[in-house]
Amino acid sequence: MSELPATALLYHDDSYLRHFDAAVIAVEGRAVALDRTAFYPGGGGQMADGGALTLDGRRLPLAAVRKQGEVVWHELAPEAGEPPAVGARISGEIDWAFRYRMMRTHTALHLLCGLIFTNYGAQVTGGQMYPDRARMDFAMEGFSPALVQDIEASVNQAVRENHPVRVYRLPRAEAMVIPDLIRTKINLLPPDIQVIRIVEIVGVDLQADGGTHVHETREVGGVRVLKTENKGKQNKRMEIALVDA
Ligand SMILES: [Zn+2]
Repeated sequence: MSELPATALLYHDDSYLRHFDAAVIAVEGRAVALDRTAFYPGGGGQMADGGALTLDGRRLPLAAVRKQGEVVWHELAPEAGEPPAVGARISGEIDWAFRYRMMRTHTALHLLCGLIFTNYGAQVTGGQMYPDRARMDFAMEGFSPALVQDIEASVNQAVRENHPVRVYRLPRAEAMVIPDLIRTKINLLPPDIQVIRIVEIVGVDLQADGGTHVHETREVGGVRVLKTENKGKQNKRMEIALVDA
């Protein structure tokens, strides 16, 4: 597939884009590669989008979206029938209810990450989003009930303070000297990545990130800590869920 041109990732520049037009550049079985897409293909703990393509007024629901190298593949559901031909012009519509929850959840996790680092000096070791909740692992000794209450309250306060969320790109050399990025192990990014996409929750968190986020923290609504779990001496897991306004 290396001969295919890279798919333009429209969600990187506009996470609120729900409809788009594109051209089919390749078809492999039931998987359709497009020249541009607003579908998030999964990664960085954020789940892939759902939705449908439309070809000549015919709706083609998607079963999966994934990124292989630089190309995003949109796999048609069985009921979609025949895939479009290479060169066909299609439109895409993402499942916005799902995506917007992912955006709110993703920004909530970055709030959590920034606040736990600022308040307790603990690094994130992993994380995953689900349709109804998310988990994040921290290099911490433990979470007491008081600490959990504190963390939940500080995240919800940051939501209410309505911090803007900024997305921008920096040349690698510039990004490498930002302390917040160094702590998130930006140096582990492959050396061929020369431009770093930054997601900054102004005043709370800043990290290299490829996901989709809300424009301001108020949109998160609020969070509730569902539970904490001991995953090892220096590894504690926290599970959160969004609270709808
Ligand atoms: Zn992220």
